[in-house]
Amino acid sequence: MNIGVLGGGQLGRMLALAGYPLGHEFVFVDAAPEALSGLGSHIIAAPDDDAALTELAGRVDLVTYEFENVPVASARAVAARVPVYPSPAALEASQDRLAEKRFFQSLGIPTAPFAAIGDRPALEQASRTLGMPFILKTRRFGYDGKGQAVIRTVGDITPAWDRLGDVACIAEGFVRFARELSVLAVRGRDRALAFYPLVENLHADGVLRRSLAPAPAMSPELQQAAETIATRVLEALDYVGVLAIELFQVDGTLVANEMAPRVHNSGHWTIEGAETSQFENHVRAITGAPLGSTAPVGVSAMLNLIGDLPDIAAVLAVKGAHLHLYGKQSRPGRKVGHVTIRSDDPAALARRTKRIEALLG
Ligand code: AMP
Repeated sequence: MNIGVLGGGQLGRMLALAGYPLGHEFVFVDAAPEALSGLGSHIIAAPDDDAALTELAGRVDLVTYEFENVPVASARAVAARVPVYPSPAALEASQDRLAEKRFFQSLGIPTAPFAAIGDRPALEQASRTLGMPFILKTRRFGYDGKGQAVIRTVGDITPAWDRLGDVACIAEGFVRFARELSVLAVRGRDRALAFYPLVENLHADGVLRRSLAPAPAMSPELQQAAETIATRVLEALDYVGVLAIELFQVDGTLVANEMAPRVHNSGHWTIEGAETSQFENHVRAITGAPLGSTAPVGVSAMLNLIGDLPDIAAVLAVKGAHLHLYGKQSRPGRKVGHVTIRSDDPAALARRTKRIEALLG
């Protein structure tokens, strides 16, 4: 099939790398001429460019997206011409942190306590109802910890408001989590469901640094709880494709933080560490093919390459290490690649992961 993708970053690139062996072709819409490093066919335009979307719809059998800030109206306009998976409703539910939290709440999925913040008095009120510390986040266009401020004392309120308050915000109670987890789930056009094992994620400054999969010290109850949460979201949205939900583990329970209606950084380990990668399963789902097995193959660690590239030869010299470079220019804080280390032996995985971490500095 000819698959259209809105967005042309590394997620789109890895979708194409998984989709070509299945016989599919890809057309991307991305405003950056340097996107995709020459993979697939590229319409250089913003994802809300009407002419570009008309051209795309004429060239492909279906459309998906690899970033969630595609304007909903654009996704709906495309959906009037060719099928769009996941449906634009999934975009709508995940673009606005307030709508997203309310959506989780409506499905009985636990979240941090939250409040809509439209003005400064509302923020002061939230500091009293949520207690300190709490987090102020912009409702839209936040990613990788951007558009967020932790408010620890009354003195932090004014600087946080001055920095973020010119747009609509949400305040969230601070969750004292034991660890961060994510669940990756996939739903086919035939409504079949599959779930990857829970992943343990380590963030620094709001950016994912390391994922371990399957998450160590997992209980079947926690996995089941995550699958129940994901199933509610997938079914409520009549979702098709891969969905990621970021979770906090608090004691033995799960609290939903946010969801991404697309393949996700915390699922990159599946390329080598699962029977079928998240990228292949997304392609299978949207094209109406049977889903592939989500079973893990041994244990995996995924380390993001952020800002600069490490000594490539030294990384490749580590047994079980798999390097993925995105073809992006180095820039502070930018994800330029990742390394997955896979092993059948958790102790060997830990040793090799340490060696790679030392190379990353
Ligand atoms: P987000 O952009 O919502 O994924 O937030 C980025 C990171 O900030 C998360 O991965 C957490 O480490 C942290 N964080 C976000 N929201 C909260 C919260 N309500 N309580 C505690 N930590 C949070």
